[in-house]
Amino acid sequence: MKRRHFLAALLATPWAAAIVPGIRAVQAAPAAASDTIAKMQARWRTLLAPGTVVPPAGEMLALSNAEWKKRLSPLAFNVMREEGTERAFTSELNNEKRAGVFVCVGCALPLFTSEMKYDSGTGWPSFFTTIPDAFQTKADNGLFYTRTEYHCARCGGHHGHVFNDGPPPTNQRWCNNGVALKFVPLKT
Ligand SMILES: [Zn+2]
Repeated sequence: MKRRHFLAALLATPWAAAIVPGIRAVQAAPAAASDTIAKMQARWRTLLAPGTVVPPAGEMLALSNAEWKKRLSPLAFNVMREEGTERAFTSELNNEKRAGVFVCVGCALPLFTSEMKYDSGTGWPSFFTTIPDAFQTKADNGLFYTRTEYHCARCGGHHGHVFNDGPPPTNQRWCNNGVALKFVPLKT
């Protein structure tokens, strides 16, 4: 037990970021006011490409594992239904900078807009806030410290973990597996 506590304390130190990639995000996002975040959340539909089909609010999607296997790639299935993690710097969405909306690859629920994305330097697509009601969170005790993992509110698919080392004013870093996202550009 002592060793576990020692490791947790070690990783909480600022210099741990220099030697352990992904522990602490590079604070690269422009600072925004709280009211700007609220406006950003409210206007997510303005970044939706015309004709994009959005699932009705509150409609859940429950499928069997066999059905999910047909619908998802093997890697997406591992991440979303078995809570796996893609390798860092493997998603092309890391470098996606166009205007648009990131939707769940499992069920098409809109999750983030391009305005909410920032470069965390971790190798996973990162966001400092989400579209309202997109996710549900739960404690994940799988590592040597507790993390908060989040799941799509519609299909329950695992997307990633949320940390408190993001840019102000939210200080949130929603660290998302790129394979669980589909990007819908506003203009093609
Ligand atoms: Zn979903």
